[in-house]
Amino acid sequence: MLILKNARIIPELTEGYEGDRADIVVSDGIIQEIKSPGTAVTGEIIDLTGKTVIPGLIEGHLHLDLCGMNTFEENVQPDAYRAMRALKLAQDNLRNGYTTVRDLGDRNNIVISIAQAIDEGMVKGPTILPSGRIISPTEAGNDFFGSMYLEADSPDEFRKAVRTQYQAGAEWIKVMATGAVMNPGGVPGAAIIMEDELMEVCKTASLVDRPVSVHCHGSEGIKMAIRCGVKTVEHSTIMDDECIRMYKKTDKTYMIPTLSAPFAFVEFPELVPPFMTEKSKHVVDVLTEGMIAAREAGIKIGWGTDAGVYPGSHGNGIYEFRLRVKKIGFTPLETLIQATKNNSEIFGIDDKVGTIKEGKQADLVVFNDPPDQDIEALSSVFCVFRKGIMV
Ligand SMILES: [Zn+2]
Repeated sequence: MLILKNARIIPELTEGYEGDRADIVVSDGIIQEIKSPGTAVTGEIIDLTGKTVIPGLIEGHLHLDLCGMNTFEENVQPDAYRAMRALKLAQDNLRNGYTTVRDLGDRNNIVISIAQAIDEGMVKGPTILPSGRIISPTEAGNDFFGSMYLEADSPDEFRKAVRTQYQAGAEWIKVMATGAVMNPGGVPGAAIIMEDELMEVCKTASLVDRPVSVHCHGSEGIKMAIRCGVKTVEHSTIMDDECIRMYKKTDKTYMIPTLSAPFAFVEFPELVPPFMTEKSKHVVDVLTEGMIAAREAGIKIGWGTDAGVYPGSHGNGIYEFRLRVKKIGFTPLETLIQATKNNSEIFGIDDKVGTIKEGKQADLVVFNDPPDQDIEALSSVFCVFRKGIMV
């Protein structure tokens, strides 16, 4: 029995308890009780007076098999070497408070195996929700990423590809719907998938109970994704008024914007090839506009960073929080809700994680300073618990 004594908790991130101070009783990896401060007495006590505890952060979009180097060099590194590096990056994320991460694309499905090894307790790491390889129409620039893309070019081929990824152990089915910023050939806004192909993906994935995540920068692609019943729209960069209205209306499809990558490409051009910076300049402006419109419309928004796409992006989640606060106008607390409660509900894992609640998994992050008051406090991690074990 572990007692986190006299912790400051945040009511918006806590369920079934009134108040902002509590003793949290943990055993068998589960939050057993949330009690009035000072009332839990038996067990191993960690005094958290003056510290703030929040539910484990959920990184909704990263790539553990990318570390921001030249992808042609990465592509020829052996799977075993990249798997070791990906595990290390996963552990770095965990130490920063990300107890769950969703990985949306690797080469040769290596992250699916890492997720399994962590699940089995063979190695330490965060809970990983992996997609494995990304299913994509044949598209200029796919070869930039070696074996990351599984190409398909008709409804039948997409059906086969979804089943192939399901068979490989994918928790999510990741599909490319529009051009990418990182591929030298792609036009970010243009749709590259046909609606009958994406519809077939969603039908096949629902048969095997796997949610679909779609890479999508442009408004036509976003509308298609919502019509087809995709679960998450990644990036959701170029949104017109109709996109905002459709998001507002649906309870099936949610946006996981990733501001970090395009903003970093513009702010730190030395990190990436010149074509990425060029493509990103326009992207940054329209993304900011669309996000402000989404905030004003009160749309439920998830949280992700696309970590892996530039050097130093893993473990730099604070950059995404800062952008959402400074550029879009969210309060620090609203961004914390996006990265915990919202992501858990959107990903369908809110029965286990996402808030501090009796009966949920004891995935908790303790900060010296209160991150709901100043987002910079996210760099003051005191300790992290995953399934009740201190990391
Ligand atoms: Zn990505």
